[in-house]
Amino acid sequence: MILSKTIALVGRPNVGKSRLFNRLAGRRISIVHDQPGVTRDIVSSHISGKYTLLDTGGIGLETTDPEEATIAGATEEQVEVAVMAADLILLVVDGLEGSTYGDQEVAVRLRKFNKSVFLLVNKIDLDFHEERVDDFSNLGFENVFYVSAEHGRGIPGVEKAICKELAIDEKNHEGEQKPEQAVKICFVGRPNVGKSSISNALIDSERMIVSDVPGTTRDSVEVELSYQTASGVNLVFRLKDTAGVRNRNKVNTSLDYFSTLRTHQAIEDTDLVFLVVDALAGIGKVEKKLAGEIINAGKCLAILVNKWDIAQEKFNNQPVEGYENIVDFEGHFLRALRKELFFLPDSPIFFISAKTGYDMEKVLKEAHALFLRASQDLSTSRLNKVMGDLVNVNQPRIVGKRLFKLYYAVQVGKFPFKIRLFCNQNGKFENPYRRYLEKGFHEAFGLKGCPTKFE
Ligand code: GDP
Repeated sequence: MILSKTIALVGRPNVGKSRLFNRLAGRRISIVHDQPGVTRDIVSSHISGKYTLLDTGGIGLETTDPEEATIAGATEEQVEVAVMAADLILLVVDGLEGSTYGDQEVAVRLRKFNKSVFLLVNKIDLDFHEERVDDFSNLGFENVFYVSAEHGRGIPGVEKAICKELAIDEKNHEGEQKPEQAVKICFVGRPNVGKSSISNALIDSERMIVSDVPGTTRDSVEVELSYQTASGVNLVFRLKDTAGVRNRNKVNTSLDYFSTLRTHQAIEDTDLVFLVVDALAGIGKVEKKLAGEIINAGKCLAILVNKWDIAQEKFNNQPVEGYENIVDFEGHFLRALRKELFFLPDSPIFFISAKTGYDMEKVLKEAHALFLRASQDLSTSRLNKVMGDLVNVNQPRIVGKRLFKLYYAVQVGKFPFKIRLFCNQNGKFENPYRRYLEKGFHEAFGLKGCPTKFE
């Protein structure tokens, strides 16, 4: 999902940008400060299904304090990048204070960017205020809205105009996937690793209510799984591609399942893919290829090492050469797996048995947790801090003599996470550098199993 439209909120400090931001975002995220020049969250962002909203720090910060001036300088540079990135600028002014020299300065600077600008005259709490407000026509903007961020007055009109200006559907709330919504999952892997057995084990579980999803064809049967955890939490999933799975006398086991179109389609249609691996066979070319395909498709990925009961039994009966015990074996397995699938986004790995039911509950719990991780809107200020630190510690190799500089990072999508970077040089990061960024980013935000694309 790409949210290509970006809106930047700009204006002098304390005109009410943060409150407006919260109004438009429909919740309280950015912190509101009442003192001018406070180092606040320089930029916050909110992604709705409609657009990415950037809240910038104040521009035109007038100060004589050198320390404040440094902050102001850094803030302004970021504001400039935010404005450059924006499709629409909301210039906020203080309706009670009236048009100031600072507003005019900001207006002049904005005009250079040649972008659509809406002028929002804020703090107009009552109708009669509107008549009494200063004329802001000297700023030279056509689209003027009288609003009250504090009370929500005039906000619906602004929202409507935004949708019209950016040609976006007002009702489009795509991306606001609610956690209680069914998470689409599928199991892939080479033949005989136990995909069908895992599906059946889940379907047969006592805590599971299974219902067919209406409208799915015989060929691509989808079932809805409503699972009550031991602690009483209800998790809802849609399991893809169960055609033939529920029929115990499965034919076609010899079919080169993984290379079929069905697998590709199943991957495309799901939120979360479980790559199933045989505990005794380990990781081979097929697993690598499939994992690559899942990541390229931008899907969340977790790994299930199935048939763990066989390994457990082996170690119960007699010592196995080369390993001290099953824990040692598990450690070896994990290291080998991580090494072979080094390109994974730190995917969670579980050792399970479809046959005995060992750790099967973890599968769905993790699926749920993984989905929640992948659904997040990340804090932009934190994102900027994390990405900035990563770039400072380890500079990319990009042509040119200039030092690479990251101005600004913003999340522009999820499923997969899309992070857009605004830099002083335009070039392609090499794969190892991308992986370095991805790893650092994942560690900082705890995004195990969620793929990320940097633009
Ligand atoms: P699929 O081709 O990946 O769907 O694999 P199946 O689910 O058909 O399983 C292949 C074979 O492995 C069957 O004979 C299963 O009974 C067996 N199997 C699947 N899971 C397990 C497991 O956890 N433990 C053991 N011991 N056998 C399993």
